Amino acid sequence: MAYDYDDANIFAKILRGEIPNDTVLETEHTLAFRDIQPKAPSHVLVIPKGKYVTFDDFAENAPAEEIMDFMRAVAQVTKQEGLSTGSGGHGFRAITNAGNDGVQEVPHFHLHILGGRVIGPMVMQLRD
Ligand code: AMP
Repeated sequence: MAYDYDDANIFAKILRGEIPNDTVLETEHTLAFRDIQPKAPSHVLVIPKGKYVTFDDFAENAPAEEIMDFMRAVAQVTKQEGLSTGSGGHGFRAITNAGNDGVQEVPHFHLHILGGRVIGPMVMQLRD
């Protein structure tokens, strides 16, 4: 079954300019903006402009140029935010949630970049 992109999702509306966002970086194929409910002092969402639902959708189906643009945008954001260990920062965590089990709220692929403090354990321990 193919990935089913919903044009009504909130990030699609941001990309169409229908609702505002706090942009930190925009490139030809990628947009990075601040999360509206930040979970860390620096919490940026990096999204491709193309219509991809999840990370695996993007990784499998995006042209190489879009993937390259996205990856370089992530690097630029970590530098701009002062997080990159290559530029004197203390690091960050990059998270992407996919589908029901990944607890993805917005069905447009996005990478969370979280930093500015120690982010804590990788995942919460959940009981079945
Ligand atoms: P996820 O659970 O990975 O799909 O995360 C979706 C994220 O999008 C959450 O961290 C929300 O706080 C964030 N979010 C939802 N609406 C907006 C918005 N209009 N602008 C910025 N971030 C948003």
